[in-house]
Amino acid sequence: MIDLYSDTQTRPTPGMRAAMAAAPVGDEQSDDDPSTNRLCERVAALVGHKRGLFLPSGTMCNLIAVLVHANPGDELICEDEAHICGTEGAGAAAVGGVAVRTVASRHGVIEPEVLRTAIRPASRTAPRSALLCVEQTTNFAGGAIWPLSTLDAVRDVAHGAGLRSHLDGARLLNASVASGIDAARYAKGWDSVWLDLTKGLGCPVGAVLCGEDDFIEAAWRCKVRLGGALRQSGVLAAAGLYALDNHVERLAEDHQNARLIWARLRDSGLFAFDPEAPHTNILRFRLAETSHPASEFARRCRLAGVRIRAIDQRWLRVTTHLDVSQQSAALAADILVQAAAALSQSLPE
Ligand SMILES: *Cc1c(COP(=O)(O)O)cnc(C)c1O
Repeated sequence: MIDLYSDTQTRPTPGMRAAMAAAPVGDEQSDDDPSTNRLCERVAALVGHKRGLFLPSGTMCNLIAVLVHANPGDELICEDEAHICGTEGAGAAAVGGVAVRTVASRHGVIEPEVLRTAIRPASRTAPRSALLCVEQTTNFAGGAIWPLSTLDAVRDVAHGAGLRSHLDGARLLNASVASGIDAARYAKGWDSVWLDLTKGLGCPVGAVLCGEDDFIEAAWRCKVRLGGALRQSGVLAAAGLYALDNHVERLAEDHQNARLIWARLRDSGLFAFDPEAPHTNILRFRLAETSHPASEFARRCRLAGVRIRAIDQRWLRVTTHLDVSQQSAALAADILVQAAAALSQSLPE
């Protein structure tokens, strides 16, 4: 099975496992785990923020950011397909009492004017617009890279209207490797930002949430409250340190493989894409002939040995990662083309 379902499907490499086994450890929640401390310092420096906080998942990074930046009855603004909106168990609402307002975007990139219009004027009746959440790169919206100027502009619109800004950088390093723009430059001026260790970086567990002192102190309280405070987490942090040393530059290979798959799909004429071509390791596409649901196509691909993800009724997602070689990517593309050709011959039930 060639698993293109998600870049979370990687297994820790032998080198990573060795680093984990050798990690110096201590009690994380007393700041005594040297490996976790090193990882937090390193990620904070990478994204240009003062401090980092090691958390079990990106979902917890987003939830804690919402809890720190917004109060019950407030509203956060994100784009329609954002992970925080549709894929986190409605944590903002269920745990934080924070409503989610979605706005339209072009493959996940929100125009500053759209944001400006969505921010509510202060009133007795409306929820308070409190927080902007943006993904760099966008996930279900297509792995797109926000242009730096647009990213800066929405941050400024948010701050100008008194909102806080949160950058969901699950795949920020993919954006950085693909564009050549430093992660710290993308994250400049945002009130919080995080990196996922379990996506392109290939770690089994963890994410690092970053911000200034006040933010991290408040985030620590939430982490404890949510049961995210850890003990000898150095065995996990060591995987992150190893990944930062060994798995960042190679993200370019994932991007090339996504492009290779895209080129074969495009040449078949059987597919349509959004964005037009992959920016990073995510390829978002649909069948040009749309009478079959995306899930049926995904089912057939799986039977033929390739696992992909149906995002909704129409759109599908392919994600390249550490455990997908160029050869596997090429083979997978051919299988997808064959499956689409076969499906276009058969009528929907
Ligand atoms: C994966 C992902 C998350 C959640 O991270 P987990 O580590 O899976 O909890 C949040 N936002 C985006 C954009 C993601 O891709």
